Amino acid sequence: MSTLTSASTPAPPRVLLAHHLRQLKLPTVLREYEKAATEAARDGHDHVRYLLRLVELELIDRERRTVERRIRAARFPAVKSFDTFDFAAIPSLNKPLTLELARCEYVAARDNIIAIGNSGTGKTHVALALGLAACQKGLSVLFMTAAALVHQLMEARDEKRLLRLQGQLDAVKLLIVDELGYVPLSQTGAELLFEVFSRRHERASTLVTSNLPFDEWTSVFGNQRLTGALLDRLTHHVHILEMNGDSYRLRQSRSRRRDPGTAPEPDVDPATGEIVAD
Ligand code: ADP
Ligand code: MG
Repeated sequence: MSTLTSASTPAPPRVLLAHHLRQLKLPTVLREYEKAATEAARDGHDHVRYLLRLVELELIDRERRTVERRIRAARFPAVKSFDTFDFAAIPSLNKPLTLELARCEYVAARDNIIAIGNSGTGKTHVALALGLAACQKGLSVLFMTAAALVHQLMEARDEKRLLRLQGQLDAVKLLIVDELGYVPLSQTGAELLFEVFSRRHERASTLVTSNLPFDEWTSVFGNQRLTGALLDRLTHHVHILEMNGDSYRLRQSRSRRRDPGTAPEPDVDPATGEIVAD
C-alpha cells in the first residue's frame, strides 16, 4: 500500500537530484540545470552537449569562488588593481617590470619584491594590485603591515603559539609586508621579523614596501648586523620598484582645488544647512 504522504514514498527525482547535487557540492549545476535543459531543447543540443554546458558552468563558478576565497584569506585592507593605477603619475616606477611582475612568475621563482619610495606614491596600491593578481593566479597571499605582523608575532610568542603562526606564514606563497620603516621595532620585534624573512628565503616570495632607502633600514631594526643579514636574504633574488615622486593624494587634492569643476562639496552644517567656512 502506498499513498503520496506515506513515509516510504520515494522522494520525487527532482528532490533527490537537488539533494545529491548539494552533497556533491555542485551548486551551479543545481541552479542552472532547468534553464540549460530549456536552452538545449531549443537549440537541438544532445545530452552530451547539455551535460558539457552544465559542467563548464560549474567549473567557471568554482574558479570564481576560489579566487574570492583567496582574496578574503589575503586580508587586503582594500581590493585594488592595475586597472585603476595611473603609471604616468609615477615616472620613477618601471612600468614594464611592474606589469611583468603582475604575471606572477616571480612567485614560482621564489623571488622577492621591494617597493621603495616616499609617502603617497602608490606603494600600497601596487602591493595590493600584485596581491590581487597572485590570488587570480590561484596563489595564496597574505597582506599585513609590518607593525601588525610584528604585533602578531610577539603575541604568538607570549602565548606559546609562535611555531604555529610561523608555520601558517611559511605556507603562504606571497607574503606582503606593507609599511616597513614607519615604526621602529623593538629588539625582539626585529628578531621575530627577521626570522620570518629568513624562513621564507628561497622558499617563498615576500613583497615589502618601505618609505626608507636601504641605508636607513638599520634605524628600523636597531642593529647593523641583523639589518645586514636581513638585506642579504631579502635582496638575494629581488625586483626593486623605485617609487619616489610626488604624493598622488596631495596632487589630487591640489588639482581639485585648481579645477572648480571637480571641486569637493563644501562642508555643510547638518543642523543648520549652512555652509561651514574653513
Ligand atoms: P603609499 O603606500 O606609497 O603611501 P598609497 O598606495 O597608499 O601610497 O597611495 C595613496 C592613495 O593614492 C591611494 O588611494 C592610492 O590608490 C592612490 N594612488 C597612488 N598612486 C596612484 C596612481 N599612480 N594611480 C592611481 N591611484 C594612485
Ligand atoms: Mg602605503
